Amino acid sequence: MKIKVSYPFEKAPEPNELIKIVDNIFWLRMPMPFSLNHINLWLIEDNNGWTIIDSGLNLEKSKSYWLQVIKDKLKDKPIKQVICTHMHPDHMGLSGWLCKYFNAELWMSQGEYEGYQNISSELVSDDNTTAYDFYLSNGANMDQAKLYDKYIGIYKTFAYPFPTSYKRLRDNDVIELGGYNWQVVIGSGHSPEHVCLWSKSLNIIISGDQILPTISSNISVHPAEPNANPLNNWLTSCQNYKSLLNNTTLVLPAHGMPFTKVIQRLEGLISEVESNLSKLTSFCKTPKRVVDGFDVLFHKKINHKTFMLACGESRAHFNYLEKLKILHSHSDDCNVIWYKQV
Ligand SMILES: [Zn+2]
Repeated sequence: MKIKVSYPFEKAPEPNELIKIVDNIFWLRMPMPFSLNHINLWLIEDNNGWTIIDSGLNLEKSKSYWLQVIKDKLKDKPIKQVICTHMHPDHMGLSGWLCKYFNAELWMSQGEYEGYQNISSELVSDDNTTAYDFYLSNGANMDQAKLYDKYIGIYKTFAYPFPTSYKRLRDNDVIELGGYNWQVVIGSGHSPEHVCLWSKSLNIIISGDQILPTISSNISVHPAEPNANPLNNWLTSCQNYKSLLNNTTLVLPAHGMPFTKVIQRLEGLISEVESNLSKLTSFCKTPKRVVDGFDVLFHKKINHKTFMLACGESRAHFNYLEKLKILHSHSDDCNVIWYKQV
């Protein structure tokens, strides 16, 4: 039987509305022009100013929403810091802009800050050969491999550059915001060092993309590190959150509605991964490429919009099984990798 999570809030905020979660903690939502059509942002109020958690895409429309919220809702108090859970454009897109124009500090983990710097350096390079080779080795054709240019280009379009300095958040740091203590709990797999903020006294976690109520977070291998094992990091993180949280914990996710019953949700996510791994293992009785794994791993047909994410995620499953020596691989004369049961 599929156990569902519970949603204590009936309605999400309108773009210029703040919904109070508890005293000093507010929910703001920004629209996005994708099938994933919104992101949740969290604002924490202190006597001397505000902390903003995640920022939305770098779009003129999002900036105008921010200006309105700052004018109408922040009670003339300054923005003291912007916390960025991770480096993806919907989360970090306007962090740099908020820091620059409102004189705020950027707080985030080192892995995410440096991950963004690496992407920035790729944006100025016009040689994506290494990335094309990575996708070709996974069984992509050249047209599919070149989708990488568009994929990386979303940073150019939707991300305002970070400030050149930041304050580092480390796993287990405790910070005080809104009159509550928050423990930094780093997760990994969806991004290198994703920051979640956990308040034991409130029994609330701000989870970013690390724990979502309905969709599963993308877990991808990227061309910069073809042998990475993000799925292992992901499963380890899920176990860690399971040991920390409980079914009455209120989860404030970046997408979807705030929810409880997080232990069931984490168990559901883990068992989905385990089931996919076992299906993929059976599928590899005869040699298979990463792109062949799409049919086993994904319910929807993969198209040019989803190819990059699907390829990265499929490779993550193959790498995981290869590290466990359940699969082994060899490259053919065209440098395409084939995986087969050991
Ligand atoms: Zn993300």
